[in-house]
Amino acid sequence: MSQHTITVAGVAVDARHWIGGERVASTRTFPDVSPIDGSTIGEISRGTATEAAAAVAAAKAAFPAWAATSRAERARILHAIADGVEKRIEELAIVETTDNGALLRSHRRGVMPRVAHNFRFFADWLLQLDHEDFDTRGHTNHVSWDPAGPCVLITPWNAPLMLATWKVAPALAAGNTVVLKPAEWSPLTASLLADIAAEAGLPAGVLNVVQGYGSEIGDALTSHPDVRRISFTGSVPTAKRIAESAAAHLTPLSLELGGKSPLLVFADGDLDLAVDLAVEQYDNAGQVCLAGTRLLVEEPVAEEFTRRFVERASALKQGDPRDEATDIGPNIHPRQLEKIDGFVQRALAAGARAVIGGHRKEDQYYAPTLLTDVAPDAEIVQEEVFGPVLTLQTFTDEEEAVRLANGTRFGLAATVVTGDPERAERVTARLVAGTVWVNCFFVRDLQAPFGGSRLSGVGREGGTWSFDFYCDVKNTVTAPKGWKDH
Ligand code: NAD
Repeated sequence: MSQHTITVAGVAVDARHWIGGERVASTRTFPDVSPIDGSTIGEISRGTATEAAAAVAAAKAAFPAWAATSRAERARILHAIADGVEKRIEELAIVETTDNGALLRSHRRGVMPRVAHNFRFFADWLLQLDHEDFDTRGHTNHVSWDPAGPCVLITPWNAPLMLATWKVAPALAAGNTVVLKPAEWSPLTASLLADIAAEAGLPAGVLNVVQGYGSEIGDALTSHPDVRRISFTGSVPTAKRIAESAAAHLTPLSLELGGKSPLLVFADGDLDLAVDLAVEQYDNAGQVCLAGTRLLVEEPVAEEFTRRFVERASALKQGDPRDEATDIGPNIHPRQLEKIDGFVQRALAAGARAVIGGHRKEDQYYAPTLLTDVAPDAEIVQEEVFGPVLTLQTFTDEEEAVRLANGTRFGLAATVVTGDPERAERVTARLVAGTVWVNCFFVRDLQAPFGGSRLSGVGREGGTWSFDFYCDVKNTVTAPKGWKDH
């Protein structure tokens, strides 16, 4: 075991970059801290422009051979990566939980199987991806999905391996090579993915992983002339920075950003279901981009909804995310807690009322919070908090519900609870959101388009949309034999 190996709950994780099929150490490191107890898990290689350049060079060198690899062979290797993930679900789950504090039981049973599925899904989708040829005055049009080249994939900490593989799998399936930069607050599972991919037979340089602070390594990746695609999931300010940097070479961007999604509860809906869905918004300690953090409830049922919500939310168990019985774990970082509490205290000072919560708890835990008496233009209603903080507003008719729902700069998702299918159709048609759920939440299919409107993002991924992004789509027009055009 090298001096660069960190042992996390018995699992060995290499703390170095993975570039061109080799482990590469930086001279400097940064500490990786667990949100569970604030302890330092280990020191991680702290990448700079040097490692960024080396990783892009490795991805560029590996590109021609991988792009020329048959679809069947690429799909076979992606399935082998999925096998490797499935074999190591327990290890991946405990490492991820230690690193980002999300629930072990969700990592075990939901997230890590989904990581494997990301690879299987895009492998299978690749094999059936095609356009029909079509005819133009006897000429054949043939549309092909050409690999684009090296892709830079930058990911956040709230669902590290899930979000990374949601990008890595289609990028590799499309025949591209990849430089993955995970978030500095959750660097570990990306390193394990590099091991799994290598064991699965992915050639050297096809997947590279670089670690470090976005401010130190980011620009060198996103402004690089050899990078053909940048896919980013994270915050709006970082996205703007990346867009500026990518403008140097007009590198195509996919941006999956924040949200402030509404959950609309109509009086004709199932109130128990509405309460269930509302309580679900505390999942992952509120660190979910899609979370419906704005509860919009029709006036006549607001009081009863609130009563049942408080009863349910008060029964949630907050604590160590490794404990099977825990419902809400810690927030990721002391800085994130300060940010969350800042939002809440400013809202309270401005006249909001905390129905539950409204304060920090011991260590890195924040009390699940519901705030009422908030104005539509209040900061707490307009800005993404990214913690277990919900607001409740009431409405009197459909018109007002839609106006409130659409009344932020975001447009990632929306949930509508109603017992009236016609109302559901009318309301969803008017909502500005990349995904709308009716009487459900978080049901996701990888073939569905996923993304946001307004400040929630640019572009869509999922199924064919992913291949649209990760490929250079080419139309070849072939003349019939003996044809001349004068
Ligand atoms: P962040 O923007 O701070 O960081 C995301 C990543 O960008 C990290 O890897 C970071 O190191 C990197 N980065 C930072 N500066 C950079 C730069 N100048 N150049 C290149 N890379 C840079 O976001 P975060 O706090 O890690 O994540 C939380 C945000 O992500 C929330 O806003 C959340 O809503 C959003 N999110 C969106 C989705 C979605 O699918 N829409 C999913 C999950 C999270």
